Amino acid sequence: MMIRTPVLHQTHLLVPQEDHPQTLKFDFRLKEQECVSLVKKCKTIEEFRQVHGQILKLGLFGNSFCSSNLVTTCALSDWASMEYASSIYRQIDEPCSFIFNIMIRGHVKSMNLEEALFVYDDMLDRGVEPDNFTYPALLKACALIPALQEGMQIHGHVFKLGLVDDEFVKNSLISMYGKCGKVRNSCAVFEQMDQRSIASWSALIAAHAGRGMWSECLRLFGDMSSEGCRKAEESILVSVLSACTHLGALDLGRCTHGSLLRNMSGLNVIVETSLIDMYLKCGSLEKGLCLFQRMAKKNQLSRSVIISGLAMHGRGLEALKVFSEMLEEGFKPDDVIYVGVLSACSRAGLVEEGLQCFERMKIEHGIEPTMQHYGCMVDLMARADMLDRAFKLINSMPMEPNDVLWRCLLSACKVHHDIELGEIAAKKLFQLNSDTASDYVVLSNMYAKAQKWHDVALTRTKMVHKGLTQVVGFSLVEVKRKVYKFVSQDMSHPHCDVTYEMLHQMEWQLKFEGYTPDTSQVLLDGDEEEKRQRLSRHSQKLAIAFALIHTSQGSPIRIARNIRMCSDCHTYTKLISMIYERKITVRERNQFHHFKDGTCSCRDYW
Ligand code: ZN
Ligand code: ZN
Repeated sequence: MMIRTPVLHQTHLLVPQEDHPQTLKFDFRLKEQECVSLVKKCKTIEEFRQVHGQILKLGLFGNSFCSSNLVTTCALSDWASMEYASSIYRQIDEPCSFIFNIMIRGHVKSMNLEEALFVYDDMLDRGVEPDNFTYPALLKACALIPALQEGMQIHGHVFKLGLVDDEFVKNSLISMYGKCGKVRNSCAVFEQMDQRSIASWSALIAAHAGRGMWSECLRLFGDMSSEGCRKAEESILVSVLSACTHLGALDLGRCTHGSLLRNMSGLNVIVETSLIDMYLKCGSLEKGLCLFQRMAKKNQLSRSVIISGLAMHGRGLEALKVFSEMLEEGFKPDDVIYVGVLSACSRAGLVEEGLQCFERMKIEHGIEPTMQHYGCMVDLMARADMLDRAFKLINSMPMEPNDVLWRCLLSACKVHHDIELGEIAAKKLFQLNSDTASDYVVLSNMYAKAQKWHDVALTRTKMVHKGLTQVVGFSLVEVKRKVYKFVSQDMSHPHCDVTYEMLHQMEWQLKFEGYTPDTSQVLLDGDEEEKRQRLSRHSQKLAIAFALIHTSQGSPIRIARNIRMCSDCHTYTKLISMIYERKITVRERNQFHHFKDGTCSCRDYW
């Protein structure tokens, strides 16, 4: 191979000019050691350019010690320039694995992810053998792109080169597979490890968290603790916190809060905000508010979290108060905060305030309303029985309204008995082809209420023809720091017998209170008895029965659901809260119901 010498016409450009104020004084007797220490001291790219020039002039570029330090500094320092580093890299005739590794790391650090793969390709092309320092950065590139195909090829190379036992490489493989959506592969790599560090657990838990596998996250966290890894790092605790938030596991969330306080010297804004989010979404509004007030530094995100949290709990006025305090302090609201503010107004029935905020957002803060903002406004009007106005707003939107908006209008039409508009909304949903089984149920329930039996039958037949089935609803309930999942008609549960026995007892009590099951909520055809039985085994009822058995008298019950509860479960839960004297909190996707003494905080509108 021909040895390339530094290109001279470039050199003279790089020579320091005497009159330049920033010019470094150079001693031409410098040896490589001194040159390198000058390279390392460079604080800006200009300084670096001068030192580089001198090294070329002194003919020291061919010295691998000098050239590798040039590349390292240029690629990895605070002022790093990958363009410049690449130009140096291209002039090195036979780069060693060290140079390739630095280039890969630099590209990943600067988020030139594809470039990192090209460098690796170049490395293989030139027959340079990668080592255990090559792979962590390279796999990180694959994870961030994400590029599963390449990641798997690289896994093959790792195997071939016998680097598969290196812990750092393995941790990177776990993360890469997780980010590429192949959590099973992450687990397989993890299983094959002899020695598992905190970092390995962290990678595996994060892989599951990234795919929303929350129960698995908590199980792994338990396994980790029982394998003796007790001192968890912040990233693990944050993943666990997200899992608690999603599962509504308040007790476990509280413990995680405790671990964070024990293990960390201080909590940063991000961790504090995720704690607040956890408390709010697990139903503990007071604790969330308390943490928010005590926060030393509040940022845009923490305010946004508290406003939408207050909205979820139906505390509209308080949300507006936080919002106006924020404006007084000079913070400029963004579109996300406005989604929280508008939904706070709609949930709390603050119609005037909501309309004002919508105008203010457009005029004062120059934010163009998005689909989500329109959704909040349609919801606000629909809840307040301003159905025509909501319909007008939908028709005046600059973009094509989506299924969420039409569905919102449809369910409001059901509540306010407006069949005509309800039919229009349903038709739009069917046209959008995003119709779900529950849309048909809402429509047919409307017809049933109006005693239009022919239309009821027609709607149900249509649904069957389309092959639509209802999403399987589930309810999660936390008992003694463990989360239990119930699906409707669940017979697989380990405590099944006792739970059904309890359900039976509850029904007796309910009958005394005048409860009759609302079987119109059951989709399937069948006789009344069958419908009644299906209804009585809705997941929320099973979860409540289970919690009543396994928690002490008077303690609150917290449930998280994946889909809206049916109106029968709502009535049922209200009565149970009175009969058994329990506070029951049910979280739906974006709303809380606080049941107490026979009433619900949503005032039966949701
Ligand atoms: Zn139900
Ligand atoms: Zn409610």
